[in-house]
Amino acid sequence: MQPVKAFAASSSQSPLGPLTINRRDLGPHDVQVEILYCGVCHSDIHTARNEWGGSTIYPVVPGHEIVGRVKAVGASVTQFKVGQNVGVGVMVDSCRHCKNCQSNQEQYCEEGMTGTYNAKERDGSGNITYGGYSAAIVTDEKYVLNVKETDNLAGVAPLLCAGITTWSPLKFANVKKGTKVAVVGLGGLGHMAVKFAVAFGAEVTVISTSASKVAEAGKLGAHHFVHAKDAEALQPYDSKFDVVLDAISADHDYTPYLNLLGLEGKLLVVGLPEHQPKVLPFALIKNRRSIVGSMIGGIKETQEMLDFCHEHKIYAEIETIDISYINEAYERMIKGDIKYRFVIDMSTL
Ligand code: NAP
Ligand code: ZN
Ligand code: ZN
Repeated sequence: MQPVKAFAASSSQSPLGPLTINRRDLGPHDVQVEILYCGVCHSDIHTARNEWGGSTIYPVVPGHEIVGRVKAVGASVTQFKVGQNVGVGVMVDSCRHCKNCQSNQEQYCEEGMTGTYNAKERDGSGNITYGGYSAAIVTDEKYVLNVKETDNLAGVAPLLCAGITTWSPLKFANVKKGTKVAVVGLGGLGHMAVKFAVAFGAEVTVISTSASKVAEAGKLGAHHFVHAKDAEALQPYDSKFDVVLDAISADHDYTPYLNLLGLEGKLLVVGLPEHQPKVLPFALIKNRRSIVGSMIGGIKETQEMLDFCHEHKIYAEIETIDISYINEAYERMIKGDIKYRFVIDMSTL
């Protein structure tokens, strides 16, 4: 075991603070990564504050948008070399043999994927995984991503969750040239959804509760902006979209967004608020609409997304922070006061 500096929440009420954690010794298939940057996802907040049905195990070290540099590799590692830039996302293990793991969709492992934090290691030790708000992580090479980027590493970090979580459903929904896409909730996930949908050639509309995001939405490439505080503001857009991607972090109903879908339109749900939403079946049957949930993406797809971003120079829009700012960052995220992702410079730990 190797002691590593980290930042953790010790209860749902307490602010995050310093904690020393133990990382496992390097196994033959493991890669030891010095963490350079870690993005701050709203799931970190949901977990730290135990907003998902009491599932948090304390102390919890959040962080699953990790970019770092390989410090050491186990004897059997073939894909990574010391000094290489790499990423670790939301998942660090899965069963590897079920149908879904075998078809590169490890995030839907039949036994349940192992999350980068707040999950039980699969080695039977009962140890809990700790995330990227830490100086280093040890991860099996199968769940480590290759980062070709060398300059804007901080801007790459959010791709490991916000990026793949929006890329995967947009691809699943076959978003392409001319598809009419609305993105609801212009946060960390939402702004990546806009960038990807634009890159795929779609006509993109941002639906946001924040009037202050109008100009920036245009800079992200969005073609239209709707300032929507309530369902009435959405009325003129009834049945206008092929795809609506819902990346809202707070409690809300699906019906107003379903109503925006035209024939066989899809509501792609990635936002994970605390409470159950309301859905009116009449809004669902009209136009044969569907609601499609999506959880991050598999390792292969994540690598494809990273390579596409490298080729097209797509990065997250970020505000880099010191680790000591993390509790303020959480408060600002809850208020929607960030354009669009906080990324922690881990050298400040
Ligand atoms: P974020 O950066 O905080 O953005 C959330 C956005 O939701 C805000 O920017 C805001 O957009 C909108 N919003 C917030 N409160 C609202 C309210 N009361 N009513 C309407 N809109 C509101 O969060 P994020 O990191 O992008 O994460 C978004 C959600 O996705 C979270 O629930 C997170 O846990 C979840 N998530 C899911 C997966 C997955 O695999 N499915 C992966 C990662 C994260 P506007 O200002 O534009 O209104
Ligand atoms: Zn996340
Ligand atoms: Zn599996």
